[in-house]
Amino acid sequence: MIGAKRVVHNYGHGGAGWSLSWGSATLARDLALGGGVQNVAVIGCGALGLTAALTLLRSGARTTIYAAERTPFTPSARATGIWSPESRIAATDAMPPDFPERWEAMARRAWAVHRTFVGLDGDPVRFVNQYNLRAAEGQRARVGPPPSPGHVPFEHFEGRLDDLGPHSRRLSPEEHPFPVESARLLPQMTFNVAEYARELTEAFLLEGGHIVSRTFHRPSELADLPEPVVVNCTGYGARALFGDHSIVPVRGQIGWLAPQPEVTYGLYYNGVTMVPRADGMVIQAVGAGEMVGYGIDDETPNRAETEEALAMLATLFPGQARPDATV
Ligand SMILES: Cc1cc2nc3c(=O)[nH]c(=O)nc-3n(C[C@H](O)[C@H](O)[C@H](O)COP(=O)(O)OP(=O)(O)OC[C@H]3O[C@@H](n4cnc5c(N)ncnc54)[C@H](O)[C@@H]3O)c2cc1C
Repeated sequence: MIGAKRVVHNYGHGGAGWSLSWGSATLARDLALGGGVQNVAVIGCGALGLTAALTLLRSGARTTIYAAERTPFTPSARATGIWSPESRIAATDAMPPDFPERWEAMARRAWAVHRTFVGLDGDPVRFVNQYNLRAAEGQRARVGPPPSPGHVPFEHFEGRLDDLGPHSRRLSPEEHPFPVESARLLPQMTFNVAEYARELTEAFLLEGGHIVSRTFHRPSELADLPEPVVVNCTGYGARALFGDHSIVPVRGQIGWLAPQPEVTYGLYYNGVTMVPRADGMVIQAVGAGEMVGYGIDDETPNRAETEEALAMLATLFPGQARPDATV
């Protein structure tokens, strides 16, 4: 409670915010609408704010989003855009005992809703063939920035979602062109984030929601809002607004190339990820593990990091490297 206002916190989703969004929205909706509430304010217009606001609206609540930034200028617009519901979502030694069940419920709900966007105009959600490649002996490397100091034991929920969606399959050497020891192919659920966020914004407004540009500087300002319940979807912004220092950046940075519609597959090789999205080719090197980017909130683009990742990918295409590729 802040004064007489009930505040439902819906932030802190690690590297899994897009993936878990609809499931987390359902939990937030149930907390927000308890007691017959019909008017709800949502703070934030990123992945979590948009999905919470639409879920509330579609449950019959009059819903207004208040946000400093909206699509395409929210941090959510800069995500890699793949189904990654486990990514840095919780530290094993800091999560409540019921979290694995809650996480599973969120993931299952979110998966089901994401699926309803497959095949729509603009492909907001689609399955992209991703080649997970294992380098040959002597070619193995861990490309990417050094990990941050320390060790956070990030939880992995092995096997809980095994029945969902397609699995990867090992390819025989004749089935792929890459000079590697082994390859697996995974139809990867991929979010075309620019289009997805636009469609969610459009749906929210068309269905009667309102968006107000507003920046909050302290929690007491929430008391001025006319709505009796506030769903707080401020993401990393919650650190400053609510003084919540448990919120730390966990996913590092990605690099972008111009869109290349002719590239219809994704890659993972020696710690480098490449995702071909309609709004750009996403490149990230995280070879040094889950502590890469941990605690670092400097968003200055790092061109050298992306070039190192590209140089690694270029070794998969001997004789075809394009040194003029735009970063
Ligand atoms: C490099 C990288 C790659 C990622 N890749 C993936 C991926 O592939 N798949 C996946 O599922 N997840 C991924 N994530 C995680 C995902 O991007 C986040 O979990 C998600 O975007 C968080 O969304 P959000 O809506 O909580 O926050 P944000 O997108 O940060 O939105 C916060 C909103 O709150 C508003 N706000 C904040 N403070 C205030 C304030 N004081 N007053 C008013 N408004 C305020 C902002 O303006 C904004 O509208 C990635 C993250 C990173 C960094």
